[in-house]
Amino acid sequence: MAKAPQNAISPTRAEDYPEWYQQVIRAADMAENSPVRGCMVIKPWGYRLWENMQRALDDMFKATGHQNAYFPLLIPMSFLEKEAEHVEGFAKECAVVTHHRLEPDPNGGLRPAGKLDEPLIIRPTSETIIGATYAKWVQSYRDLPILINQWANVMRWELRTRMFLRTAEFLWQEGHTVHATEAEAIEETQRMIDVYADFAENWMAMPVTIGSKTPGERFPGAVDTMTIEAMMQDRKALQAGTSHFLGQNFSRAQEIVFQSESGDREYAWTTSWGVSTRLIGALIMTHADDDGLVLPPKLAPCHVIILPIYKDEQRAEVMEYIHSLRDELANQRFNDAPVRVEIDDRDLRGGEKKWHHVKRGVPIRLEIGPKDIEKRSAFMGRRDQPKSSPIGRDELVATIGTILGDIQNQLYNKAAQLRADHSVSIDNEADFRAFFATDDPESHEIHGGFAHCHFADEDSLQPLLKELKVTIRCIPREGNDEPGTCFATGKPAAKKAIFAKAY
Ligand code: AMP
Repeated sequence: MAKAPQNAISPTRAEDYPEWYQQVIRAADMAENSPVRGCMVIKPWGYRLWENMQRALDDMFKATGHQNAYFPLLIPMSFLEKEAEHVEGFAKECAVVTHHRLEPDPNGGLRPAGKLDEPLIIRPTSETIIGATYAKWVQSYRDLPILINQWANVMRWELRTRMFLRTAEFLWQEGHTVHATEAEAIEETQRMIDVYADFAENWMAMPVTIGSKTPGERFPGAVDTMTIEAMMQDRKALQAGTSHFLGQNFSRAQEIVFQSESGDREYAWTTSWGVSTRLIGALIMTHADDDGLVLPPKLAPCHVIILPIYKDEQRAEVMEYIHSLRDELANQRFNDAPVRVEIDDRDLRGGEKKWHHVKRGVPIRLEIGPKDIEKRSAFMGRRDQPKSSPIGRDELVATIGTILGDIQNQLYNKAAQLRADHSVSIDNEADFRAFFATDDPESHEIHGGFAHCHFADEDSLQPLLKELKVTIRCIPREGNDEPGTCFATGKPAAKKAIFAKAY
């Protein structure tokens, strides 16, 4: 067997966290850069993970009464102009289509031709195009609520990109709903952030805090932006999902008007909510280690990989044992579905093959050779534990669901512990500075975390936050009833916020 390297990923997290992240994606074969900067190719292993995320989320959306539909990629520029804050927020990132064909260039090659009368925007988000459609669909209170989601790609031409976490084109879902009353729309906004938190915690094994964004961090055009914030292993925060209460801002801009039960013409109340392929980045940064990706079993494309070990003359015997074991395991259930089992019978050295699956984060590896068959056992490696050990075949089959559930729980507990270890309450500026300080700006040293602080007014904190490269992540929804004084200004403060460095 090949001698295992000390760590499969170089550099390690402690040596250079950002570079470690890129190397995990490479080693797990999840994605690669494309010829267009900021746009990525999602490879099968990454896409299978996304499909599992989609399936779980889609079921949750349907269970809360939503249906899927599809709206166009291209939005007339005039649509975007209708909501002033919205256009200001997105204008800098819009990809604009100005021509509708190509023609030969007399100097060689091709050039755009057929200039469009009105430029078209590649959707950065679809409030405006969907709102214009809803304006036609909504006449009376009987048409409400509209509860629709779309799975799509969007384009935000971001300058500083990082695979999955922030790309120019990304895949996502966007829910867009219309309601007759303010209370119903607020309830929907809360319901969907709860769905996201449920998904993050129970499927991704990623603890999150639910809260509201401060006005400075809100979605352009929203009255309230709810967010789920997670702590990555470098203690930075990541906004993992958002749900926006849009009030009547978009319905006024787009004339989504209905006749109420009492016969009055009223503007409707709307919401929108989305999560993206950023969740894959979140999952990597929450669970991966110095040997590569670590997948929570509920989302893993493959739960169990079986690795046959044999000399040529033993092949038939080993493969027969493995096929029957595969069938028995696949008849077991985990998380209300059959256990997903695959066999890797490629002609590769054992060590190489094992590390291939370690780096891809498969929860359970079973190495099986003639000696294991003699003992009716398997040599099992759990991705959340460093050492492999033998397990009897019958016990393995009987407990496979329990083992997968245990791995899922261990991953959650480990992430929750990291967050607990690096969350502090701070009530003065000196401690705040010390918590986020680093002596050497080039240092890859990991420091800081989540600082829970009372604050009075967002604007007056900006110079300090800019200096320390810290942002306000959210005002947590739970456990935030005690008033206090602002950590920086000493003014009376009603609420605490989470402050952190962030992606
Ligand atoms: P927003 O419409 O800005 O509220 O974003 C909706 C969701 O998409 C949030 O979960 C964001 O974290 C995610 N998101 C925003 N920008 C990007 C990006 N450039 N790449 C990947 N995900 C993004």
